[in-house]
Amino acid sequence: VKNYLGEIKKNAHLNAFNEVFEKEALINAKNVDERIKNGTAGKLAGMVIAIKDNICYKGHQVTASSKILKGFTSIYSSTIVERLLAEDAVIIGRCNCDEFAMGGSNENSFYGPVKNYADQKRVSGGSSGGSAVAVQANMCHAAIGTDTGGSVRQPAAFCGVIGFKPTYGRISRHGIIAYASSFDQVGPITRSVEDTALLYEVMAGPDEYDNTLIQQPVSPIIVDTQKPGKKKIAYLQEALSSPGVNAEVKDVLVQYIDKLRAEGHTVKPIAFEQLDYLVPTYYILATAEASSNLARFDGVHYGYRSPAADDLQSTYKRSRSEGFGKEVKRRIMLGTFVLSAGYYDAYYAKAQKVRRLIKEKTEEILNEYDFILIPTAPEPAFPIGAEEKDPVVTYLYDIFTVQASLAGVPAISLPTGNNSKGLPLGLQLLTKHFNEQQLLDFAEYFL
Ligand code: GLN
Repeated sequence: VKNYLGEIKKNAHLNAFNEVFEKEALINAKNVDERIKNGTAGKLAGMVIAIKDNICYKGHQVTASSKILKGFTSIYSSTIVERLLAEDAVIIGRCNCDEFAMGGSNENSFYGPVKNYADQKRVSGGSSGGSAVAVQANMCHAAIGTDTGGSVRQPAAFCGVIGFKPTYGRISRHGIIAYASSFDQVGPITRSVEDTALLYEVMAGPDEYDNTLIQQPVSPIIVDTQKPGKKKIAYLQEALSSPGVNAEVKDVLVQYIDKLRAEGHTVKPIAFEQLDYLVPTYYILATAEASSNLARFDGVHYGYRSPAADDLQSTYKRSRSEGFGKEVKRRIMLGTFVLSAGYYDAYYAKAQKVRRLIKEKTEEILNEYDFILIPTAPEPAFPIGAEEKDPVVTYLYDIFTVQASLAGVPAISLPTGNNSKGLPLGLQLLTKHFNEQQLLDFAEYFL
């Protein structure tokens, strides 16, 4: 803990943490030391973890990097925090992120952007940008993020670390500030597949507070380090043919396809007819759900209340106008629009149907192939401020991550080295629902 606290101080300019639990982490580490001596320590004894600032931890502030939650303290802990603590993890602080996890560059944070450790003029990725940089710059052992449409995997790729989104319904969302509930999943960001497996195992499994969870308990995951048998892998041919994908990202994909083939695996291109619908479907559904989830931030129940308010209406209006940032407001408006009476069928209901088709097509591919291999992002980390212009262009960067989110299948982003500018690149593996064991085994081999 002392070592990590030192690294956090040294790297304060990266802006990865919204708060460091300095004193408390030292005390907790001492207690874990005692338990190690007594032989009563849990599975995570020795692990120092940072959590994204949208994860509730009793008695600690939680802001989702929004002004509207400034000063709000959690009155209970999320299930995942309880499980991590029960296994003796030490939580060292809460990490910066895009406001309410809406974004892919961490530039939508009330606390300012997080800088990429590989190049401080560039973004960390997002929305779990602080969590990814905390691991990248060795400010903690591992970090916990949330992934709605790529927010664990994409910043992991931008920072050269591992980011894992499990099957939807595997990890409890109780005590996680909701963005889009039918997509939100908690996921670990680590430097090794073994740590990913361990954190997944500790956090996953039934929880009476989240009724979208599958009731089967999680079996312990021991990552197999032996060479796996011959696998069938599909890759999206558009990832290589689309002009929107960076040339070096394509090169890495080709390199891995060749390597896997040389090692005897079957690797085939596939067409995914719904590719153009992935991003629109995701953004219609995610904003619809967000507009409903964010209705609770009204200036009365939580956090910020406008000092200029003089009655109930103006409390709502002013607190929300002053408390939410630009991107969050845009999404609330978009979500409210697609849910409104005259447009519900044309947008929201239509998108639900397209989601079903995307899920079915993804399952069909994964019945034939063990894995889908695609880039995590079409480009490496871009310069801070470069994306100000058109939000739709920014949304399109999520093209490769939202498929797993729409289908609810597990996906992992793995670091595949740096490009010619020294910027990390990542590739993603998707697999069938609940096939985490095989995915993590193959990830270990893939690295
Ligand atoms: N970039 C996507 C969005 O802005 C994904 C965010 C996330 O996974 N939380 O919605």
